[in-house]
Amino acid sequence: MSKECPYPSVTGRNMNAEIIAVGSELLTPKRVDTNSLYLTDQLNALGVEVVTKSVLGDDRERLAAAIALAASRSQIVILTGGLGPTEDDVTRDAAAQALGRGQTLREEIAEHIRRLFEQRQRKMAEINRRQAYVLDGAEILPNDRGTAPGQWLEHNGSCIVLLPGPPHELEAMFIKQCLPRLQRVAPKLAIRTLIMRVAGMPESDLDQLIAPAYKKYENPVTTILAAAGDIQIHLRARSETLEEASALIEEVRRPIEDLLGDRIYSWDGEPIEVIVGRMLRERRATVTVAESCTGGLLSEKITSVPGSSAYFVGGFVTYSNRAKIDWIGVPESVINQYGAVSKETAEALAVALRRQTGASYALSITGVAGPDADDAPKGTVYTGIADARGVAVVHRQFLGDRARVRSFAAQMALDLLRRRMLS
Ligand code: ATP
Repeated sequence: MSKECPYPSVTGRNMNAEIIAVGSELLTPKRVDTNSLYLTDQLNALGVEVVTKSVLGDDRERLAAAIALAASRSQIVILTGGLGPTEDDVTRDAAAQALGRGQTLREEIAEHIRRLFEQRQRKMAEINRRQAYVLDGAEILPNDRGTAPGQWLEHNGSCIVLLPGPPHELEAMFIKQCLPRLQRVAPKLAIRTLIMRVAGMPESDLDQLIAPAYKKYENPVTTILAAAGDIQIHLRARSETLEEASALIEEVRRPIEDLLGDRIYSWDGEPIEVIVGRMLRERRATVTVAESCTGGLLSEKITSVPGSSAYFVGGFVTYSNRAKIDWIGVPESVINQYGAVSKETAEALAVALRRQTGASYALSITGVAGPDADDAPKGTVYTGIADARGVAVVHRQFLGDRARVRSFAAQMALDLLRRRMLS
């Protein structure tokens, strides 16, 4: 049974963790360190903040230096990988060197590994005995899914944890062996997260507007993540009870809401296509689209929501002028006079589309995703919406490459529909 880490009481204080992923292959473009993401998620759920992550190659000296540094400044240090039997598996030796501990061959582990080989009708190679070395003072963490056991060591007030690299081994060992130990040492913290999503605003404008409302608070922590046409504001509060954490969130949420108003479309992280779909259902309304520069992206987004057949009539990719004229009924004179990428064409496209389909709402997109075209510079997008009340068009000039402009345009069309339904 493990002892508790000899920390002072940490209730109400942050407990810090560091993760060190070991393996030279993780420093190549071929492999991604996913173990750290998994561990971060698990640690955060326990109220433990991950303050540093590093990836190190199979170099004993460098690794020993990294372990010594991590152990000197963090209460939890988790290493993943490098516990195999070969010469390049250096984690055990590096940890022993960094922490000034010896290692002892544990015959019961060697015997266990030998039996695992036997079950697979194989003979254990002599080098596999290397996996049976345990740091003096460490507890063994049994490995249900592989040969390399993990190790848990308490060292000068820090917990040093050695876990295997293969994700399915690491995850099983973490849940079974590490989680109960960490639950004993981690502060009893409740965490509440709120994810607000905002459309139709550049990230810098948004941050300038709301920074005074959140900058003065350290708890909750506010993070702003921006994608094309879609910004997420993450509020993450930690406290001893869920009620207290919720109250902390409320304190910041309210002023942010006052500043952003109906630009916030979601309070639980749901994407705009889900929100718009729900609003259409509630109104028993339908939508149809005619899109040009987005080439079907808007239809793809709308239909990515299960059950969208209840409100999506269908869509046209009216890429050419002929398609706009022949399929939808845009007057040729409008395109000739104003050009395909124009307010007038977006308007005519939406109106004609609604007349053709009888949908409650008809959306149109016409623009230049890139490169620059004769009639308009790249990033020019017009989005139209026609409904029983009439027609409206929004013009935007987006920055970015082709994919980004298309993404912005589809997002803008969905937001236009959302606002039209709200108004
Ligand atoms: P083994 O006994 O299998 O050698 P090990 O603990 O020595 O286990 P490594 O040899 O470092 O682990 O890695 C084995 C495999 O696990 C790697 O080839 C890689 O596919 C995967 N792996 C290792 N580290 C990570 C990581 N941080 N994220 C994702 N996958 C990883």
